[in-house]
Amino acid sequence: MLRRKFFGNLIAGSAMTPLAAAAQLSPPQATQEPYLERASTGQPHKGKVLLAVQAHSDDVPLMAAGTVAKLIEEGYTGYLVRASNDDMGDSPGLGTAGTIGENVLGNERDTAEVARALGCKQHFDLNYGNHRMADISLNELICRLILIIRLVKADTVICWDPWGHDEENPDHYMVARAVEAACWMAGRAHDYPEQFAAGLQPKEVQDKYYFARRPEITRVVDISTQVDKKVDANRANRAKGPGGHLGSRLRASLAKRNLRLPLLGNDDDSADRNYIKEFVLRENRELGAKYGVEYAEVFHYIPPGAADADMDPGVAAYVKEHAVSLK
Ligand SMILES: [Zn+2]
Repeated sequence: MLRRKFFGNLIAGSAMTPLAAAAQLSPPQATQEPYLERASTGQPHKGKVLLAVQAHSDDVPLMAAGTVAKLIEEGYTGYLVRASNDDMGDSPGLGTAGTIGENVLGNERDTAEVARALGCKQHFDLNYGNHRMADISLNELICRLILIIRLVKADTVICWDPWGHDEENPDHYMVARAVEAACWMAGRAHDYPEQFAAGLQPKEVQDKYYFARRPEITRVVDISTQVDKKVDANRANRAKGPGGHLGSRLRASLAKRNLRLPLLGNDDDSADRNYIKEFVLRENRELGAKYGVEYAEVFHYIPPGAADADMDPGVAAYVKEHAVSLK
C-alpha cells in the first residue's frame, strides 16, 4: 500500500456529499461539521464488543489503531481480523525486504503483536492471497465474517469504507463490502441457519467506523491519550512498515557516516518510537491541529439504525402517535 498520499485530500474531502448527508439519519451526523469523539471517563462501553477488520497487517495500525485502543480502554472487548496473508509484502524501503514466504511469516507474527499491543482479546487471519481478493467469492467472505460477528457478538465494527473514493487496492474494497453486508445479515434469522445449530445466535452490528484514503469525515476521534499505543502497533509492524524498525535503521546508517539525529535518541528502541511519532503519525498530528486536539483519526461513521433496511421508522412513529385502544 502506498501511504504517502494517505491524508493528502483529507481537508478537501471533509464536506459531505448530499447523498451521504441524507444517509446520516440521527444527530450529530445531521450537520456538516464532523462530530468530535473525545476521551470518555470510566468504561462507558463495558460489555460491548468491537470487531476491527483489516485487509492487511498495516491497515488498522496506520488508519485506526488509536481508536481501537481508545474503545478498548473505554470498555469494549476487542477482536482483530486480517483478511489477506500479506504475501506481497510492501516496498522494501518501507518494511523488511524478503521473499513471498518470508512476507507471510513476518506479517503473521506482526499481526499477533499488533493485536496484543492494542489490547485485543483474540485475532483471526483469513489467509486470502494479497492483492488477489478481487475475484474471491464475496459470499464466502460474507459468510466467514457473519460467523465471526455471531461468534464474538460484535456490536461495533471498524473497517475500510466500502464506498471510499480513489481506492486502488482490491483487498480494501472487497473486505469492506463484505463487512457491510455481514454486519446486517448476521442479525437475520434465516441466513446460514446451520450456524444456529452450532450454538450461535443472530447478532446485528449496531454502528461502524469506516476509514478511507480520501475519507468522508463525519467523526473525528481524539486519540491523544492513546498515541503511545498507536506507536506500539506501528512498531510491531516490522515486515510491512512504514514504522517498524525504520528509526533504528536510519540511526545505524547515519552512524556509519558519523552523523546523529537528536530526534532518534541514544538507543534503537527510542529511535524506532520517535521516528514513528514524528513521521508515521504526522498526519494524525495535523488532523489533531485542525480539530483542536493533539492527535486525531477520522472516520465515515455509520450510527446505529442509519442503514437498517428492515425498519421504517416512520411507521413506528405513526403507530405511536395514532394507535387507539381496542377496548
Ligand atoms: Zn491495506
